[in-house]
Amino acid sequence: MKKRLICRTMAVLSWLGALFMIWHFVSRALECQAYVEHMPFQAHFLNVDFGDCILLRCGGSNILVDGGSYKNKYFAKKKISQYLCERGIKKLDAMVCTHGHSDHYNGLEGILEDGFPVNKVYVSHSSFYNNRHESHYDKFLNIAKEKSEVVPLKAEDEFELGKAQIKVLSPIVSQKACQLNAYRRNAWRRDDKMLRDIENNHSLVLRAQYKRCSLLLLGDALLEAEMNMLNKKMNVASDVVKVGHHGLGQWARFYEKVSPKFAVFSCSGDQSDNPASLELAKELRQQKTEIMYTYRQGDIVMGSNGRSWTVARTDDSK
Ligand SMILES: [Zn+2]
Repeated sequence: MKKRLICRTMAVLSWLGALFMIWHFVSRALECQAYVEHMPFQAHFLNVDFGDCILLRCGGSNILVDGGSYKNKYFAKKKISQYLCERGIKKLDAMVCTHGHSDHYNGLEGILEDGFPVNKVYVSHSSFYNNRHESHYDKFLNIAKEKSEVVPLKAEDEFELGKAQIKVLSPIVSQKACQLNAYRRNAWRRDDKMLRDIENNHSLVLRAQYKRCSLLLLGDALLEAEMNMLNKKMNVASDVVKVGHHGLGQWARFYEKVSPKFAVFSCSGDQSDNPASLELAKELRQQKTEIMYTYRQGDIVMGSNGRSWTVARTDDSK
């Protein structure tokens, strides 16, 4: 009888211990997220499955860089609307569409259609002026023109987000590049992958600087864009990088120049399993970079005080 009582007491204590651990991790995660969301400069990497969606906040200003998602525009639109609403964000100072692929503009199109107020829509100069890889991108541009002001950006352009400066590093638009693009307009005669890669290399690449902290957002830039940025001696060194093209098809030497402390892969599980993505993750780990995946860790929120970064994740217990 006494033995049974001891066993029962032990079982109850184990359950209480387990509940305490769960409560501890959940409350720690919530505390951490609340703390990070009060920091002066914030980067929120939303988990939109296959696609990119990043909310940048500084000094009361908010911009959304891409809006996922390959799934469909309703999935991303719902996710973004809810996320902005939970934070009391009633207008965007700007939205940025890095390039003309649906896993980047679907959600943006959805919230524009819903009439969410957006002051400016920044788009890639090269994507805007060249032939489309996806014809639907024209529909997105038409909605953006109707609801807001569309501004094409290229390398060396700059804009502000509160006290943070944002510089465009790519696309580099030169006479030679324009001639090359004109030549490539006939690429459809060759293959679709080539057209897709051209559009990816047209991606807007943004580098944000807040005091001593920096953040690099690569859109879907591939080897060609990475090489152009290094050839033009662009300052790519950054504490945090959102890796290009969901981690697929990147160039290790470029990431040596970036030398990030943190790397975010905005991707689905399928994309992270790709051999190219695994190879990049291996290279980054060798550089002692901390790697995070949106599909695995959920929404990833990073905050900066201008000297260092703090990371919060939806599932901070991992
Ligand atoms: Zn993409």
